[in-house]
Amino acid sequence: MTVQPQQATMPTVLVFEDDPGGDPLHINMPVPHPVPQLDTQPFPTAIAETAPQPNGAGPGTEAFRYWVAADSLGRAGQTWGPLVPAGTKWHPQVGRALTAHLNAGDDLNAFYDRKGVWFFRSTVAGVNIAACESNEVVLHETGHAVLDALRPQLFNMASAETAALHEAFGDISALLGSLQLDSLRIAVLGETHGNLELSSRVSRMAEQLGWAIRQGAPSAVDPDCLRNMANNFFYRDPVLLSPSEPASRLSSEPHSFSRVFSGAFLKIVAGIFRQQDLQDQAGLGRAAEIAGQLLVDAVVAAPVVSAYYAQVAGHMIAADQRRNGGMYGQSLRSAFIRHGILSLESAASITEPEVARRNAGITEAMPGGGDEEGLTPVTVQGTIYGVTQPLTLSAPAQERRFGIAGSDPAGGSVRPSDPERVATSFLEDLFRRGRVQVPAEHRSATSFADDSPSRLKTHEITRSTTGEGLALVRRCFD
Ligand SMILES: [Zn+2]
Repeated sequence: MTVQPQQATMPTVLVFEDDPGGDPLHINMPVPHPVPQLDTQPFPTAIAETAPQPNGAGPGTEAFRYWVAADSLGRAGQTWGPLVPAGTKWHPQVGRALTAHLNAGDDLNAFYDRKGVWFFRSTVAGVNIAACESNEVVLHETGHAVLDALRPQLFNMASAETAALHEAFGDISALLGSLQLDSLRIAVLGETHGNLELSSRVSRMAEQLGWAIRQGAPSAVDPDCLRNMANNFFYRDPVLLSPSEPASRLSSEPHSFSRVFSGAFLKIVAGIFRQQDLQDQAGLGRAAEIAGQLLVDAVVAAPVVSAYYAQVAGHMIAADQRRNGGMYGQSLRSAFIRHGILSLESAASITEPEVARRNAGITEAMPGGGDEEGLTPVTVQGTIYGVTQPLTLSAPAQERRFGIAGSDPAGGSVRPSDPERVATSFLEDLFRRGRVQVPAEHRSATSFADDSPSRLKTHEITRSTTGEGLALVRRCFD
């Protein structure tokens, strides 16, 4: 038997490495990658459309869009697969493999809905925008599916802060996916002169989609991308924030509010990187992996409560003590304090003895579990929401493990809002943003349901499956 030299025969496809880029006249240079493997454990993926020949098709062709999406799905598996606990699977409703639909209709958006990940297209100022052509968008949506596998209880939670953590996890998925590539690690070290906190190609999410949205809604997104993880947004209890704001300000809208957590995460990667022996591309790869591991550990173990960011932060610090002897504690505390996710007193309270005392509950945590585990039903009057019957919401009310909270801008700690207030505030915000589908039979005479087709409905009002009356359920994360 003759051994063929592998490299000479390995077929490749052309792909973008992170995004088409924010200037449609000067798109990023496509690069050759090996034909991606999708059916890999623990997160097998598939694409609904038929696979074209890997024949080196370039931007603007269906074949190119297919292989960019496939490459991104494969990279999502490589990014998260090694970090999740053994036995982690997609949410049962997803099925064995997560299926991507690359041409789901006309819109500038994408979403995950437990049936798959859906990518839309639109033409803006003569430019064809396909969301599946951005690795950052594909990795963001796949990130929602990964977090849903780890923590299905977050899906239906009526809480701005848990929804925003889902969005942050999506952007972190895109960041860690980009940092899987040697070429992008080298590029970002050059662009930031080794200071990963700075704005860079990998901190700027979905530059092309951002450009397209900006043409019609100039203040809805950042000036150079959709969202930037290099930011200084400071924590406020989202119950106190407006339901929507221009991109330059923080609102309770989950994508907007996600920037507080994703901003801290970028600083954590930067801090862990500074602590590596060598500040080279390998050291950056290692830093990204360490930070991703601590996040996975934390979301599996953290109870779902109001002031959820603080709980996840505390569990990342605890995970570092358990895994690394607390080696990165200073980087973690500093990033969470700079974004107000932990108050000074909270950050100082997560000591080694405190973590050791609570260790049992943390290490026994398993991914998955029942969708309703830890959710506390809260029933509100339907009339004030324009529906005909009482309405049940799922409030975040698990038992807190660490008595910690975010910073009050005036000093000290924020007092976490009670779960009922978190849930009703979330519902009000959904209506104020026109994001709830209300079927005609449930509308009262004073209904204010928004029927505009341009508002993606992330939630719907349905007959309750567990009790009397109606319930708010999530359809998707976009
Ligand atoms: Zn999202």
